[in-house]
Formats: sequence, C-alpha cells, structure tokens
Amino acid sequence: MKIGVLGFGGLGQAAARVLSQKQQMTLVAAVDSKGYAYCPEGLDGEALAKAFREKGSIGFEPTFGNLSEEPIAALLAANLPVDGYFLALPNLPNTFMASVAQQFIDAGWRGVLVDAIKRTTAVEQLIALEKDFVRAGITYVTGCGATPGLLTAAAALAAQSFSEVHSVKITFGVGIANWEQYRATIREDIGHLTGYTITQAQAMSDSDIEALLDRTNGILHLEQMEHADDILLERAGICKRDRVSVGGVVDTRNPKKPLSTNMQLTGRTFEGKISTHTFTLGDETSMAANVCGPAFGYLKAGIALQRRGHSGLWSAADLMPQFVG
Ligand code: NAD
Repeated sequence: MKIGVLGFGGLGQAAARVLSQKQQMTLVAAVDSKGYAYCPEGLDGEALAKAFREKGSIGFEPTFGNLSEEPIAALLAANLPVDGYFLALPNLPNTFMASVAQQFIDAGWRGVLVDAIKRTTAVEQLIALEKDFVRAGITYVTGCGATPGLLTAAAALAAQSFSEVHSVKITFGVGIANWEQYRATIREDIGHLTGYTITQAQAMSDSDIEALLDRTNGILHLEQMEHADDILLERAGICKRDRVSVGGVVDTRNPKKPLSTNMQLTGRTFEGKISTHTFTLGDETSMAANVCGPAFGYLKAGIALQRRGHSGLWSAADLMPQFVG
C-alpha cells in the first residue's frame, strides 16, 4: 500500500518512523505547510525530518522535495498514485480538516483518507460531506487517533457484553518533553480549557502559550472536553452522546505520563447486573504510538473497503482497525 502523510509535525514525523518499520505500507508522499515530497519507491523519513528541522520544510529535501505556497493543491495537481493519506494536520481553524477533505473531493481524487480529528463539531462537518465522499469514490474514516480512535473502538468492543450502556468515561494521560514537539495538539488542547475557545487558542502567540504553561507548571488539566468520541458512539448506536465524557492531564515538560490512559464503559447486562469494563493503555506507550498505530490500522481497513468498491464515511466506532505488518 502506497501511503501519504499530510502534516509533518509531531505526529507526521512519528507516522513516518512508524511506517519505516512496516512491510505492508510504504511512505511515498508527505506534505507540510511549505511543500511536499514524493517518491514512488519510498521516502526516507529521516531525510525529510532533517530538511524540516534544518530548513523549515520537507520541500527542501534535495532529491524528492518540492516547495509550494499551496502544497496540498500542488500534490493533488500532480495526480500521484497514492492509496491513502493520514491527515496529521492541525484542525485550526476548526473547519480546516473538512476544507482539506473538500479539496480532495473537488480534485476528483479517489482513495482513502483517515484523520485523527478531536472535536465533535469538526466531525459533524465531515458527516455533512458523507454523500460527497460516496459520489467522489473516497473512503473516509474519521476519528482514527487515540481518542477518538483506539479508545472509541475499545468502547464499541466493550459494549458487546451489555444490553444497555450507561456511561463511557475516557481519561487520558499524555507526557511530552516540550510543547513545541506537538504544537497543534497543545494549541487545540488549550482551546478546551475553561475560559478559552479554539479561535482564541489559534490566535495565541508562542510566547502567550509559554506564559500560560509557566503559570500551570507545564500541566494542562482538561475536563468535559468537546470530543467526538460522543458523536461517533452515538452514531454507531452504542449510547447517547451525553453518556460519553472525555478528560485528561497533559504534562508538556515530562515525557512520563501523568496518569494511565483508560476507557471505562459501564452498562447493564441482560441479567440485570451493572458492571464496568476497563481498557488501560500501557504507560510506556506514547501518544504518538497510540495515534499513529490506529491511524494506519484504520487506513488499512479503509483500503480494504475501497478495493471492494465501498466509498463514504466511516469512523473508529464502525470499523476494527487492521494490524499493519
Ligand atoms: P504539529 O503542529 O506538530 O504539526 C502540524 C503539521 O501540519 C506541520 O508540519 C505543519 O507544517 C503542517 N501544516 C499546517 N498547515 C498546513 C497546510 N495548510 N498544508 C499542509 N501542511 C500544513 O501537529 P501535531 O501536534 O502533530 O497534531 C496534528 C493533529 O493531530 C492535531 O489536529 C491534533 O489535534 C491531532 N491529534 C489527535 C489525537 C487523537 O488522539 N485523536 C492525539 C494527538 C493529536
């Protein structure tokens, strides 16, 4: 499978490293905000990361890089044979991911797209494009990161023991060495804090963000987040969205997780017993491992659907990710 990654920041670079250890998928295309790189035999993620780090864009990669003011449009205009893309882009503004999906539709591109989008209102925009994906022949799988993503799938699986699902509680712990590693992730998380909106978070300068993190000692406490796990579990018929809650703690100054990420689903069995299934991620698994692994697992599932002629919109709650060898 020939794979592209849109966005070459924290998750995009981790995605390239993940793919370098896979046999079934090859990274052939990558895009950042200033350019793109393409090689049908496979790109060297390390060489791209070097160009990004030292010169500010993968477009400067000497052999396969191309600079462009509109890199996604340039990539689409080049009409490259790519089976599927992982959209590791910031969703800033909150309409950005849906606008990128629209660009793929308008370009007449056919293939598979997966995102690791977080907000409910962002997923609603993609649901509104469902018929357009069908018409365009695009297989789009949304919410394929860790949460939404791996933990939403765990909730869908856990629900099977119950006749009625009462609550799904997702609590994540993220530890990163510094916020610059995952700029969009941290900026979007700030948009969830009480007193902030996503528009305010987007408008903050780097020094505003540093000042905020200085005040909190680098820790972000997030509660009752607007997270699309709710709409995806509701859409899959598992429970009403108000039964789903997501929160967590992000430490931006320490790669050790502040708490163990977990999903707890409580329900009633057919015998009338109330019980809780808990799915806990290993503390040694990083955010990048728990986002990029599922994203490619869902990309593989999407490619299987696409090859059988199915296009439209699916989510992490509708499909099982397929392990990429
Ligand atoms: P980042 O800021 O580190 O990287 C973003 C990349 O996108 C950069 O390479 C930038 O150059 C590129 N980019 C920006 N605008 C672009 C444009 N117009 N065209 C092409 N490229 C463009 O971001 P990150 O921290 O890796 O996060 C990526 C996304 O993943 C965020 O939306 C974040 O919310 C999401 N995320 C999801 C989960 C989950 O579990 N679902 C977890 C973490 C992060």
